[in-house]
Amino acid sequence: MAENQLPEAFESQMQALLGPAEFALFKEGLERPTQTSIRVNRMKPADISFSKRPIPWAKDGYFLEERPSFTGDPNFHAGAYYVQEASSMFISHVLESQQIPKGVYLDLAAAPGGKSTLLSSYLGEEGLLVANEVIAARAQILKENLIKWGLGNTVVTNNDPEHFGPLEGFFDLVLVDAPCSGEGMFRKDPQARAEWSPDHVNLCSARQKRIVDKAGELVKGGGYLLYSTCTFNEKENEEILRFLTEEFSFEPVRIPLDPSWGIVETEVNTEEGTFYGYRFFPHKVAGEGFFITVLRRPEGAYTQEAPTTKEFKHHSLKRLGEKESEVLEQEVGGDGSGKFYLLQEAYFRINGSYARAVEKLAQVLSVRYFGVELGKKQGKVWIPSHEWALSTLPKIGFPQQELYAEEALDFLRKKEQSFSNLPLGWVLLTYQNLPLGWIKNLGKRVNNYYPKEWRIRN
Ligand code: SAM
Repeated sequence: MAENQLPEAFESQMQALLGPAEFALFKEGLERPTQTSIRVNRMKPADISFSKRPIPWAKDGYFLEERPSFTGDPNFHAGAYYVQEASSMFISHVLESQQIPKGVYLDLAAAPGGKSTLLSSYLGEEGLLVANEVIAARAQILKENLIKWGLGNTVVTNNDPEHFGPLEGFFDLVLVDAPCSGEGMFRKDPQARAEWSPDHVNLCSARQKRIVDKAGELVKGGGYLLYSTCTFNEKENEEILRFLTEEFSFEPVRIPLDPSWGIVETEVNTEEGTFYGYRFFPHKVAGEGFFITVLRRPEGAYTQEAPTTKEFKHHSLKRLGEKESEVLEQEVGGDGSGKFYLLQEAYFRINGSYARAVEKLAQVLSVRYFGVELGKKQGKVWIPSHEWALSTLPKIGFPQQELYAEEALDFLRKKEQSFSNLPLGWVLLTYQNLPLGWIKNLGKRVNNYYPKEWRIRN
């Protein structure tokens, strides 16, 4: 099959779903160029110079007139925005239109982190996000993207959904952005066409059922479940929605739509009533193919609160006492809400309101990162970490040096640099006042502490 040809069985499936006339439009839509879009980080305001226009269903989302070189923009590396496909940002509209209460959220299939950064922004200081990814290498990318985003309200875990058993009824919201057959990516990624087959669709559908069978029970009474895919077929969408309503008690949630957006609402009639799905087709929406459904757990459903543990016992994580926490909070210039932990001699800070939740998670899951890693201390002197540099926490007592774009890119390439009139010791480098990372001025030379694995390679 030629790369840009559609699989025959896929054509039949879409004809059956859309009818012949609309199928012709759908095919045309697949040949249109994709639109690049970004979502900006309100906590890292920057002058983003690309020509852009707002995405109507996403609070911080913008379509770009053309695709720039993101690698060549220091703001991209500073976490001022995330490059994300527009349809996925509909989750922003779901959260805002329903005013979904903040609390402890779970993104069960989170890498590389597009939807996690969106959820992290929505929660701000009033919530905690658990961003989970089952594949270890992908969990690492997820961690890096959330460190760049910098809000410090996230726990990154690397677990199979099965491992979440002890967290039944624990989450105010669970998002399952499921691994799928990727029909919605046929336009953006022609390789996806070559990999598609009816067998793969069946395999994905079976896997999705296994995932939601676990995800459903993790939502607490009154909490929400969001299920999404980037595929069109009903086996991976409506059938999974139906399965959820058969396995668990859920209430439907209907999302208001503006007809000009081109999003298609579908109804799924079940014994529990009518539920709603939202389909994004490339001939109707200025975004890639996508499907999402929103369900709500009844108020009385099983709910588990994080326990109060006077003694916190963990094989590697140590909770610091009240006094020590207070001193550290003052040193780092936090707002007073910080709780501190030690992990392999490095200090971590989280919002104290979520300390119990984090401790419960640490006892159950394989935690790869949480809150903000501040760094180590030698006596009273900080050896600050890159994670702290990129977080939105203050960096009191550290001198800062603002860079021009070319200097910033050289720093990000880890090129040797010299600066005039630089104070000795740790200096935070910034571009448009957004931190990029640390250097240490030793007098005769300057050491660059940008992580090797993150450096710009071209
Ligand atoms: N939510 C992500 C975002 O917005 O950037 C994209 C998630 S992608 C569609 C689905 C993810 O599910 C992949 O990262 C994949 O590694 C993960 N995955 C694969 N098999 C899984 C399984 N059995 N259970 C949970 N997640 C799985």
